[in-house]
Amino acid sequence: SVPASIASALSSGARRGLLLKGGAVIEAAAKVTRVAFDKTGTLTVGKPVVTDLIPAPGIDEAELLSTAAAVEAGSSHPLAQAILRRAAEAGVTIPASQGARAIVGKGVEAMVDGAPAWVSSPRHAADSAGIEAEGTRHAAELEAQGKTVVAVFRDRRPLGLVAMRDEPRADAAEAMRQLKALDVGATMLTGDNPRTAAAISGHLGLEFRAEMMPEDKLTAIRDMGGQGSVMMIGDGINDAPALKQAGIGVAMGSGTDVALETADAAILRDRVTDVPALIRLSRRTMGNIR
Ligand code: ADP
Ligand code: MG
Repeated sequence: SVPASIASALSSGARRGLLLKGGAVIEAAAKVTRVAFDKTGTLTVGKPVVTDLIPAPGIDEAELLSTAAAVEAGSSHPLAQAILRRAAEAGVTIPASQGARAIVGKGVEAMVDGAPAWVSSPRHAADSAGIEAEGTRHAAELEAQGKTVVAVFRDRRPLGLVAMRDEPRADAAEAMRQLKALDVGATMLTGDNPRTAAAISGHLGLEFRAEMMPEDKLTAIRDMGGQGSVMMIGDGINDAPALKQAGIGVAMGSGTDVALETADAAILRDRVTDVPALIRLSRRTMGNIR
């Protein structure tokens, strides 16, 4: 019978850490034609590591790192955590900061040693303050390697660049191959810049859309075909609106509570291959019913 097949699909999903909030998820997942993935913490591990410190002329590494850490001190953003870990490892003294403020999707600003300072994408620095980050060409090279580069400024003076690398999850490329075999499209949505996004998505084998603000992700999901056919996978607070907009919103288990609450399903073991697994399970189940 119908309920029995669905119930058995729900429990077989649960055994592999796929938590589905009801049988309607199975019906909807059987019809998915495209999956949209958040990048950080979903396709990647979400724990970036500082790989390069590039001080501007006349600035030393310690000053670059300590200023960046002071600005990021109050931020829970993965990039902030990477900078703070590196500063702790290097043992630099972090000056006090006041009035830290996130520039959503772009960076953070704060008062450091009585002067305004900020850490942001090099692009945001150029757009908002008209200051070209030192070594813009160098930044582009690092981004083409899949690294995320931020520029550090104090008193409108460039202090240098910090590059970070967030490794793709071990099974992400395999998950993309499995989606292709199911004839399901895949797109990565990210706030990161187009060069970094192209490097990572090229390596994994999916399409990408870069420099997306949270509301852009929402619009992108809507444009991808509306309710029913698009599945969105995300982990962060920023992803909650997009998870809600998608026909099916799926949270990565180690993500935030907000994402888990909003989603229709959760992948508890953080395996990207559980996405094609969910689609296969759903198609099989609905095929049995028909
Ligand atoms: P994602 O979609 O990958 O989660 P976000 O929207 O959080 O990206 O951030 C987009 C970009 O904004 C980052 O790649 C970075 O350039 C900049 N940014 C955001 N938050 C910070 C921060 N705390 N420190 C430095 N840069 C940041
Ligand atoms: Mg994110």
